[in-house]
Amino acid sequence: MKKWILLLIMIIIFTSIASYGSNKKIQKDPEKLNVVTTTTILEDAVRNIGGDKVEVESLMGPGIDPHLYKASAGDVEKMMNADLIIFNGIHLEGKMSDIFEKLGQIDVKTIAPGDIIDSSKLIQSSEFEGNYDPHIWFDVKLWTEVVDVIMDSLIELDSENKDFYISNGEEYKKELEELDKYIKDRAKEIPDEQRVLITAHDAFSYFGNAYGFQVEGLQGISTVAEAGTLDVKELADFIAERKIPAIFVESSVPTKNIEALQAAVHNRGFNVEIGGELYSDSLGNPGTEEGTYIGTVKYNVDTIVDALIKGVK
Ligand SMILES: [Zn+2]
Repeated sequence: MKKWILLLIMIIIFTSIASYGSNKKIQKDPEKLNVVTTTTILEDAVRNIGGDKVEVESLMGPGIDPHLYKASAGDVEKMMNADLIIFNGIHLEGKMSDIFEKLGQIDVKTIAPGDIIDSSKLIQSSEFEGNYDPHIWFDVKLWTEVVDVIMDSLIELDSENKDFYISNGEEYKKELEELDKYIKDRAKEIPDEQRVLITAHDAFSYFGNAYGFQVEGLQGISTVAEAGTLDVKELADFIAERKIPAIFVESSVPTKNIEALQAAVHNRGFNVEIGGELYSDSLGNPGTEEGTYIGTVKYNVDTIVDALIKGVK
């Protein structure tokens, strides 16, 4: 009873802030664990471990910016009906914290792997004192720890299928180890001092730390704050001085800021290319290579290395 009253109250509250809500009746397979994730990145991890024992859905689709995303009434309903809700944590889903707090008061299991893994492995935020950078998925080794957290949660809820989840998890972690090696090998094609990655927002610091790239984002670790003219000027000076061959747009962030940066570099007499579009805070479309975490990370590193190698003499 209490659950339904809360559901009603939450729907009323969130209908007012949401752009639209889906009223579609949720069809669940009672034989399967019903998991809701916030991002496609988490969804892919659940799918790899849970296989056909789990039904998983991401609230945010491809190309959606999690820093700005607000839950719809339909999202709230999906979360209320789930066996498990997984969100990244570390304030990635900055506009959803009130909802997670309210969901914590009812009996839906909610986990945030980013808030569980050892904080000594996290990168401190330079803009938000006392906070960490939430983009943990770009260090493949660190993401492997998230995979473990997800595996443990599935086992806790469905111990009957423990062996199945462990076997899938171990298999998947082997693939992640190969991915980590692939990135390291590709990064080696660029000399250390020329490994400079400039993107729309600071999503790639973990990538930079793990694989030896200096990373500069035009916006900070959240897209909530706009890039200032001073940021554009400073970064344009840096690119022109260092003769960085390419900068990158991102699939979940509008391109206008990076284009303004490119124009500012041109004004300084240096021709910087847009090296391609990187996936930052979401995966690509389902059914494509980039619709998986491994495909996305490979695509990113290939795009980065292929563009920066043009500056290697
Ligand atoms: Zn981000």
